[in-house]
Amino acid sequence: MSERIPVMRPWFGPEEAEAAAEAVRSGWVAQGPQVAAFEKAFAAWTGAADAVAVSSCTTALHLALITAGVGPGDEVVVPSLSFIATANAVRYVGASPVFADVDPATGNLTATTVDAVRSAATRAVILVDQGGVPADLDAMRAMCDPAGIVVIEDAACGAGSLLRGRPVGAGAAFATYSFHPRKLLTCGEGGMVTVDRPEVAARLRRLREHGMSVSAADRDAADRSGGAPVVESYDELGFNYRMTDVQAAIGLVQLGRLPEMVARRRELAERYRKLLSGVPGLRLVGDPVDADGQVYGETNYQACWVQLGPDFPVGRDAMLGRLAAAGISARRGIMAAHLEPAYADTPPPLPLPATEALTRDSLILPLFHDMSEAQQDRVIVEFYAAAGIAAGTGAEAHA
Ligand SMILES: *Cc1c(COP(=O)(O)O)cnc(C)c1O
Repeated sequence: MSERIPVMRPWFGPEEAEAAAEAVRSGWVAQGPQVAAFEKAFAAWTGAADAVAVSSCTTALHLALITAGVGPGDEVVVPSLSFIATANAVRYVGASPVFADVDPATGNLTATTVDAVRSAATRAVILVDQGGVPADLDAMRAMCDPAGIVVIEDAACGAGSLLRGRPVGAGAAFATYSFHPRKLLTCGEGGMVTVDRPEVAARLRRLREHGMSVSAADRDAADRSGGAPVVESYDELGFNYRMTDVQAAIGLVQLGRLPEMVARRRELAERYRKLLSGVPGLRLVGDPVDADGQVYGETNYQACWVQLGPDFPVGRDAMLGRLAAAGISARRGIMAAHLEPAYADTPPPLPLPATEALTRDSLILPLFHDMSEAQQDRVIVEFYAAAGIAAGTGAEAHA
């Protein structure tokens, strides 16, 4: 029996372990200098005015919505085709998520699908870079900006992806990122909000730390400088959404590895594309293409997903079963929140045909930094076998 192939595995070197140990040895393990350094490096890398580290992308979305002024009575357009946290965050602020359909090619919201469901109550749109495929922020803002609708980019999966040559989230009023191990850059748990206006970052920093007017790190710095002790005040309801210095130390090292991680994922994804091209009825989702056939972004392949078309003889769940029996961990494609019991009371205003087809027919292939070609070949052979093409005439013939 050959070794099980995971769907995703983080890529760490000894430097991450050393950075974490160094944070522990320093005695300052909560939010402190490492968090500040990680924020600075992340903002520089995306070109944002500032970046605020938090405990997850979910808490990043929550704080972005509060800071954008979204609250009870407001509607926020979100894709149903997303991890459930996207819609949940809207409910945390007492607003109503309104599900819109996605582009069947990219799995992302478009100005057209959002326009179809927006109303006078629409206060914001959460634009998701699904699976790392860059969403068209420029087109979305062209529609939303004149209407006074804030676009929050949920770039949870998108660190390392490019839209028109710039990192995704660049130029967004708010962009949120996840550092969970299912994403490329990981520090266990963690998130980041980038903003285009520095004054917005100050409020995000207060909200993540109990609404405190002065951070614990700044009070410590004041104590050390021997001046009068700084007394904090609590001016609004805040949260404990902080990242620790141990996580930030790991995150800083991982940020330096991101270009290499993206290059490797793109290389492996292209190999899948080439070798799976002989299987009828498979579509591998990749870089987004506009109506004129121009590629306008580069995906980091956070999720390398295939859609099984009507020509593919095996259904999605049966295919997942075949792969599991062969020791291969694949996953169903992106979930659709409107089909979950938690959203039974939130019917989409319009049918969501693209969302429902994608969530029903797609699956995520194993892809991780140190995946070998032999491991990839085991996955490929299963697709040829499922399609009734014997190995030897399929994958190997194309290699
Ligand atoms: C993973 C993910 C999240 C949640 O990120 P956490 O850091 O786990 O909170 C939110 N939105 C999308 C699109 C995601 O893929």
